[in-house]
Amino acid sequence: MPRGKVYLIGAGPGDPKLITIKGKEAIERADTIVYDRLANPRLLRHMKPGAERIFVGKLPDKHILKQGEINQLLVDLALQGKVVARLKGGDPSVFGRVGEEAELLAEHEIPYEIIPGITSAIAVPVYAGIPITHRDYTSSFAVVTGHEYPNKTYSNVHWDHLAVGVGTLVFLMGVANIEAITERLIRHGRSPETPAAVVRMGTWMEQTTLVGTVETIAKQVREADLQSPAIIIVGEVVRMREKLAWFEKRPLFGRRILVTRAREQASELVLGIEELGGEAVEFPVIRCQTPTQPEAVHALDEALSRLPEYDWLLFTSVNGVEYFFRRLIETGRDIRSFHQAQIAAVGPKTADALRIRGLTTMALPAEFQQEGLLDALAPHVRPGQRVLIPAGDLARDVLPTRLREWGLGVTTVVAYENVLSTENGEEALDLLRGDAIQAVTFTSSSTVTNLLEALRRLGEERPELLLARTAIYCIGPLTAKTAEAAGLKVHRVAEQATVQSLLEAILHD
Ligand code: SAH
Repeated sequence: MPRGKVYLIGAGPGDPKLITIKGKEAIERADTIVYDRLANPRLLRHMKPGAERIFVGKLPDKHILKQGEINQLLVDLALQGKVVARLKGGDPSVFGRVGEEAELLAEHEIPYEIIPGITSAIAVPVYAGIPITHRDYTSSFAVVTGHEYPNKTYSNVHWDHLAVGVGTLVFLMGVANIEAITERLIRHGRSPETPAAVVRMGTWMEQTTLVGTVETIAKQVREADLQSPAIIIVGEVVRMREKLAWFEKRPLFGRRILVTRAREQASELVLGIEELGGEAVEFPVIRCQTPTQPEAVHALDEALSRLPEYDWLLFTSVNGVEYFFRRLIETGRDIRSFHQAQIAAVGPKTADALRIRGLTTMALPAEFQQEGLLDALAPHVRPGQRVLIPAGDLARDVLPTRLREWGLGVTTVVAYENVLSTENGEEALDLLRGDAIQAVTFTSSSTVTNLLEALRRLGEERPELLLARTAIYCIGPLTAKTAEAAGLKVHRVAEQATVQSLLEAILHD
């Protein structure tokens, strides 16, 4: 029986990108992921296909796996030969009980690694605009548990030293005891005027911050009914927040936005959302694949065998280029079989896809609906020329129709198919059900129909009701029409059919 291995991983404070490269690689490698409440479940998307996940935090029935049971679980899994990723919020060694987990593994001689993480004690304040140290204010900080009182009469915390001996104080697990904590600080000599802040769900889209003083903060927390997980920060550095609340000031802060585009096309939108301070959740409901219909394959192969006969090759998308070349190579040909043809590409991305294949082409404007494309092409084509257009199965007919009207011989072939995908759908569904998605973006009619169908296949009976709880943004009027026909309420439509314009529509609200 192969020996398993356990990675004890710091998952960071919540922002799903605040995990180390090493931690992410361990998740990718693991057979089983053991995670709890503070580790962002969005990290599970790095799991390899078929990996198992075990939640050991608070379950819906409030049962909590005891620490001893978790320790034993890790041992058992490893003894079964599994590679285990144990995800722990923040850094595993900061009030994370990693010592106990590692100890039992060591006793059983099970190989393990501890991968540090970014602790909430430092990351959460700075996401709230509070650097934990600052030349002008403090040169020391302490991270303190807020958990062990008031029931304990004795305390490991030396309040007399702590209250006045350290610059910045950060209390974890302290919300329930905030009255006792602040009262003791004052009693042991900290000025009641000292600035204090409480940050809940720091680095998440849900981050909430309260600012006051040691004297006022407990009352503020109760009035706002702020619940765990939250940290308490005490010290002059809290003043910096007024200037430095960068995370909460970004325009899309607080908004988790669903991106339904095919993965190959999603990056511009995803980067745009992240750049503006939102969190993008990718659920590509469309996937491209090689054609499966025998007639389509036949037509493509037929066109490939006649490549020397075409005067023009017209590529309308990056996928068109990718799949055309894939089949070209598969059928034993290469670019020399169309050396006589002129080549045009719709849009700069398509032109780039050809350029990396050694073909410099005529780049046409990307706007399909507009005359620009045809205007650009018109001076170059002549009646009687033969044009091959390798495209997707959902390509629209505008271009071939017009070229035919001009007297050209047009062959369109399906180089790839768009199919529905449910990959990564559980994550999106969980977030939607938890009202943790604030906006949904649709970039084509098929993203609308596919999302609804994908959610249905994942077990959601009335997906349109679920989507009614978020704001829906469409890239253009056609997409919006499809959405409305499907029973969705469209919040806003982009003014132009571009990702930039879609982002502006979201920013509008
Ligand atoms: N090992 C973790 C801390 C575990 S103790 C770390 O290094 O961050 C759990 C406590 O951490 C919570 O009660 C809360 O006080 C704090 N905490 C963890 N994540 C947090 C977050 N995103 N926002 C605010 N507090 C957080």
